[in-house]
Amino acid sequence: MKHVDVLVRGAGIVGQSLALSLARLGLQVGLCAQAPRAGANTDAAPDVRAYALNAASVALLRGLKVWDALPAQAATPVYDMHVQGDARGAAIDFSAWEQQVGELAWIVDAPVLERELASAIRFSPHVHPMSAEQAQRVRCELTALCEGKESAGRAALGVGFERRDYGHSAVAARLVASRAHQGTARQWFRSPDVLALLPFDAPQPTRSYALVWSLPRERARELMALDDAAFAAALNDATGGEAGELQLASARAEWPLAIAQASAWSGPGWVLLGDAAHLVHPLAGQGLNMGLADVAALTRVIAAREPWRPLGDERLLRRYRRERILPTWAMGQVTDGLLQLFAQPAPAVRELRNRGLSLVNRLTPLKRWLTARALDT
Ligand SMILES: Cc1cc2nc3c(=O)[nH]c(=O)nc-3n(C[C@H](O)[C@H](O)[C@H](O)COP(=O)(O)OP(=O)(O)OC[C@H]3O[C@@H](n4cnc5c(N)ncnc54)[C@H](O)[C@@H]3O)c2cc1C
Repeated sequence: MKHVDVLVRGAGIVGQSLALSLARLGLQVGLCAQAPRAGANTDAAPDVRAYALNAASVALLRGLKVWDALPAQAATPVYDMHVQGDARGAAIDFSAWEQQVGELAWIVDAPVLERELASAIRFSPHVHPMSAEQAQRVRCELTALCEGKESAGRAALGVGFERRDYGHSAVAARLVASRAHQGTARQWFRSPDVLALLPFDAPQPTRSYALVWSLPRERARELMALDDAAFAAALNDATGGEAGELQLASARAEWPLAIAQASAWSGPGWVLLGDAAHLVHPLAGQGLNMGLADVAALTRVIAAREPWRPLGDERLLRRYRRERILPTWAMGQVTDGLLQLFAQPAPAVRELRNRGLSLVNRLTPLKRWLTARALDT
C-alpha cells in the first residue's frame, strides 16, 4: 500500500480497537504492530491479566462485533463489589442492584480479547496490517500513536511524559478459590498495599479470580521469589479466608507502577491514545477503559468533521483532546489521591479514612454518583 488515511502504530487493545472503529467509518487504516526483537523469547509467559471493563468499553467492543464473539468463560459479570479499609468494619459495598444496572463491570481475559480483536481485523478489508518498514514508506493524513507507555513515536515527536514512579509493583496471577465468587469483586486497602480479587470463570467456572496485588517494590520482589505454596500462604493470610482458600492457577507476573500524562496529545498529523497518552495506577481498573474512551472520542470527532477538513488537521484533533483531557486528569487525581490517603501511616489519618469509607457507604446518593462515574469513564 502506498497510501492510507490513518496509520495506527501499536496493535495493543487500544490500537486494534481504533483501527476497527475507523475502518467502520470507511477509512483505509494501516496497522503497524511491533516486530518481536531479534533474540526475544517467543515462549514468554502469556499475559495473566484480566481487565475490569466498564459499560462504555463493552458497548464499544460490542459495536466492533468483538464482544459477542468472546468465549463465555473469557468475560465474567461483576454484580457486587466489597472494598475494605485498614480498620475493622471499615468497608464500602457497591451493587448492580442498588445502581439499577445489569452488572457493575465485566472481567475480561486480556489475551483472549487481543486475539478476538486480531481475528476481527483479519476480516476487515479496510485494515491493512503492516511491518515497521512498510509503515515508514506509507503516506497517511494522520498517525495515531497507540504504542503504550514506552511509546518511541511520542519520544521522537519530542512530547514529554513526566512520570512519577510509585515505587510499587503490581503482582498479577490467576487463582482458584475453594468457594464460588458469586460475581463479587473484592478489594482490600491494606496500607501500603492494595489487593484486588476480580471474579472470573477460567480455569474453574464460578471459582476463579484474577489477582492484582500492588505493593512496595521490595515486598513485591519478595513475594515473586516465594515458591507457589508460600505465595498462596501469604495471599490467604492477606485476604483472611474471605474469598475462601485461594490457590495459584497460573504463573505470577510483576508490573512496575507509575502515573504519567503526555505534555501534548495531538499536533499536525498526529495524535496519542491509550497508555501512550496517560498512565494511572491499576487500583481503580481504569487504564484500558480510559484508552477505549479515547478511541470512542476520536472516532466521534473524525465522523463529525466538516467534509473539507483533513484528518490530520490540528484544530480537528484538538476537539478530541478537549473531550478527553479533563476526565483523564480527574481519574489520575482520584486514583492518586486514594493511594496517597491509604499510604499515610499516621493513626489520625487512618481513623479518618476508615470513617470516610463507612460514611460514603451510608450515603446512597453519593455512592450512586461515584459508581456512575466509574461505569462510564
Ligand atoms: C496489573 C495491571 C492490571 C490492570 N488492570 C486493568 C483493569 O482492570 N482495567 C483497565 O481498564 N485497565 C487495567 N490496566 C491498564 C491496562 O493494562 C492498560 O491501560 C492498557 O493495556 C493500555 O493499552 P494500550 O493499547 O494503550 O497499550 P499496550 O497494551 O501497552 O499496547 C501497546 C502496543 O504497542 C506496541 N508498540 C510499542 N511500541 C511500538 C512501535 N514503536 N511500533 C509499533 N508498535 C509498538 C506494543 O508492542 C504493544 O502491543 C491494568 C494494568 C496493569 C499493569
